[in-house]
Amino acid sequence: MVMAFTLSACIEEPKEEENIIISDSYIILESTIYATEVYTFESSIEGPTIMIVGGIHGDEVAGWKVALDLIERDDFTGKVIIIPRANYLATTLVSRYPGQDNNGLYDGIIYSDLNRIFPGKIDGTMTELIAHAIIQEVEKYQPDYIVDLHESKRSYASKISPLIGDEIIYGNSKSTFFAYDMVDLFNKQYLEEGDTKFAVDNSAPEGSFNNYCGNNYEAIVFTIETNRQLSLSKRITQQNQLIDILFKLAKENFI
Ligand SMILES: [Zn+2]
Repeated sequence: MVMAFTLSACIEEPKEEENIIISDSYIILESTIYATEVYTFESSIEGPTIMIVGGIHGDEVAGWKVALDLIERDDFTGKVIIIPRANYLATTLVSRYPGQDNNGLYDGIIYSDLNRIFPGKIDGTMTELIAHAIIQEVEKYQPDYIVDLHESKRSYASKISPLIGDEIIYGNSKSTFFAYDMVDLFNKQYLEEGDTKFAVDNSAPEGSFNNYCGNNYEAIVFTIETNRQLSLSKRITQQNQLIDILFKLAKENFI
């Protein structure tokens, strides 16, 4: 019998590697009013370990809303760890920290700015306890990238009391080029007419998550700071665009 093959039957299209993601979640700070969820995603496709933290400041809404939306994505590669609402009660109150307008007093407990108290301690104040719990997650996963999602009240380009909005703040010298690459790509690809160009800064204050991680881990560490003068939807869009760039560059850098 004569077998006939067509050429197309013999040449297989190269298949895209199937991406199987195992996801998990668990609670840290369990049985406290700060109990919050950690989400992990482990892909069958190798890649870097990326940790994304939102909600260290509860009133910087775009950051933690984007982190919450991220857990619905199904295209991660490598390992991704997300803590969307690190300062859970602060996000519920939409406040920088509980009791911010009352000398830190909220419901009979004194709180302080979580982002000035890292690495915290297990037997310290409530705020130090939260910082400590978040650092335990960094210790556990030893991420290659640590990303902290924040917002600032004004742009660095504001004429009145400029702050740190529209910036990527890097946490150590290892992160410098990555931060510049991110900003370059963002300004080329996503900037719309009238937008302020994103800029790079290294001004993370002592006790901030960025500063502590930058000084104590080998990771690439940076903070995204959108500008709260813009609409929430615009800020969410920008945070998502910057995170897309992070995933793209981190994938390219992975050997
Ligand atoms: Zn902040």
